[in-house]
Amino acid sequence: MATSPAEPLKRPPEELNRAVIFLGPPGAGKGTQAKKLAVQYMVPHLSTGDMLREHIAKGTPLGAKAKPIMERGELVPDSLVLKMVRERIERPDCSHGFVFDGFPRTVAQAHYLGELLRQGGFRRPLVIHLVIDTDLILRRITGRRMCKTGGEIYNLYERPPKVEGRCDNDGGELVQRPDDREEIVAPRLQAYHKQTEPLVAYYRRLGLLHDVDASKSVEDVEQQVCRTLQLVRGKL
Ligand code: ADP
Ligand code: AMP
Repeated sequence: MATSPAEPLKRPPEELNRAVIFLGPPGAGKGTQAKKLAVQYMVPHLSTGDMLREHIAKGTPLGAKAKPIMERGELVPDSLVLKMVRERIERPDCSHGFVFDGFPRTVAQAHYLGELLRQGGFRRPLVIHLVIDTDLILRRITGRRMCKTGGEIYNLYERPPKVEGRCDNDGGELVQRPDDREEIVAPRLQAYHKQTEPLVAYYRRLGLLHDVDASKSVEDVEQQVCRTLQLVRGKL
């Protein structure tokens, strides 16, 4: 039976056996693509933004520290994020790899991750760099809505739900992230350019970075990601 684009061919996690990192500015499509890839290879999707939002929702001490920082559009300190990530990737479901979205975001985080991966016996990571112009980003960020229950990502302009305000998958309420308001976009982009963009050169120097044109449709970007993985699988 032919496989529809909505149901990608599943691949065994052993075929991945590494960390895949989605790198790019806020709104580039990291979450959208990371979710799809994680489903395809049946490995965990690790979004540090989602993890921090979960801490905030549960009212943990980490959530209390992170909340005001995230609302200002700044980065949460490395020490807090690194502890959270280490604890997560040490869990058994990560033994065959995982897909990062929003991590690493500083050079210090990238160094630490490299060390964790070496210690864990993983191959070198594959870094997908989502390349996109700033003018497209504003529309993607301000139009983003997320399902409160399942985390599915929509866009009012580009990928609207079938029923306004409700998730197609589970009927959950669609909400706007507090940091997706227009006035928070500038500080987030500034944090990206100052603290995260240096990782593009860092991973390129290591020969691990692959550029993907993120201005195209979700399906097109997905295909570019898939082709990149096929090209490099087994070579890194
Ligand atoms: P990031 O995780 O990089 O911040 P998201 O994956 O959450 O980005 O996507 C940001 C917004 O843009 C969401 O509303 C999403 O639905 C939309 N989006 C993602 N990829 C595309 C695309 N290729 N074309 C159009 N809209 C997209
Ligand atoms: P995201 O969901 O990836 O857009 O992240 C939302 C916010 O969470 C960011 O603006 C930061 O405040 C915080 N955050 C997420 N990941 C990291 C990270 N790796 N390092 C520091 N802060 C992070």
